[in-house]
Amino acid sequence: MNEMLQKTAAALRGRGYDVTVVSSAVEARDFIAGDIPAGQEVGIGGSETAYQLGIADALRESGHTVHWHRGVPAAQAAAIRRAALLSPNYLCSANAVTEDGLIMQIDGTGNRVAAICYGPSTVYLAVGRNKIVAGGYQEAMRRIKEVACPQNARRLGLDTPCASGHCNVSECKRSMCNIVLTLEHAPGAKTTKVVLIDEDLGY
Ligand code: SF4
Repeated sequence: MNEMLQKTAAALRGRGYDVTVVSSAVEARDFIAGDIPAGQEVGIGGSETAYQLGIADALRESGHTVHWHRGVPAAQAAAIRRAALLSPNYLCSANAVTEDGLIMQIDGTGNRVAAICYGPSTVYLAVGRNKIVAGGYQEAMRRIKEVACPQNARRLGLDTPCASGHCNVSECKRSMCNIVLTLEHAPGAKTTKVVLIDEDLGY
């Protein structure tokens, strides 16, 4: 198994997370779908990883009600985000994870970071190996600004400075980085389950 994943898993466990390491996206999907108690609702945040896992279909097929705003017209998306925030389970990815266990999230709207910090009693973070960085906070921020945001901006068709060059916060009208969240330790009064996946997934 990938040595970097094992090292990161050990660091995350030391910071209070429940960590599972799997070798593939299929294994991650099956683990998460099997771990969520039957019949419980699941919210999903904006996540290319979740899309690539096919987790929403897997959960619906096993009888869960899924609240996910992906592909939904803006007029309905706000209500879905709110329902997701009120679900007992929530799934998304991370924008960067350091080998020593910091988890970094950026958000434009705030729904995803809100659910990670509070609300749902169980949060699943599905993280592909490409999200793990060998350095600390600065390297995680570099990954977010130079790797994650440009690719997401191009996928979403957003005209952000990073989509065609480099980050420029003062010139950014549709920022995905309005909020930057660093988790130093697993949030209290809830369970955060990190699934580290030995595949490249999402941005
Ligand atoms: S602030 Fe704007 S330009 Fe900078 S990385 Fe975020 S989305 Fe891109």
